[in-house]
Amino acid sequence: MTQLRINGKKACIKCGVWKKENVLNFSKRKSYKYGLINICRDCSNKRQNEYNRKNENLKEYRREYAKRYNKENKEKIAAKAKTKRAFMNEKEKEELKKKRNKWRKENDYDRKYYALNKKKIKKYYRKYLAKLGIEEVRRRQRIYNKTHSEKVKNKN
Ligand SMILES: [Zn+2]
Repeated sequence: MTQLRINGKKACIKCGVWKKENVLNFSKRKSYKYGLINICRDCSNKRQNEYNRKNENLKEYRREYAKRYNKENKEKIAAKAKTKRAFMNEKEKEELKKKRNKWRKENDYDRKYYALNKKKIKKYYRKYLAKLGIEEVRRRQRIYNKTHSEKVKNKN
């Protein structure tokens, strides 16, 4: 579309409204012939908003998709991670652990996980207790506390 300009006014190529040719009505853009773009600010704002909205929808869609994918491919993803871990050396494993712990701390993951999965955890613990017996569980806890004394101390 050819740009219409008369008496210091120009028509927006989008909405066709005549507006004074200045930076209030048209954004500056050096690459354009008269230094101002051909779409008025109202239209370009609208376009930007639409773009943002579309992008927001897209982001939402991608998030949902990833969530669904992870849910539907839980086993596949776990198997892949396991294979990856199998090929890692000790240093890399340690790095991964550190990264995960840091992330968990930053996101308050343990507390949140517990809050969300209270029932499941309690059920699991009861099962674990029934299987091993209280003495064995206590023995294991003692060993755990001994080997993780630093961590346990920090927690208390
Ligand atoms: Zn316009």
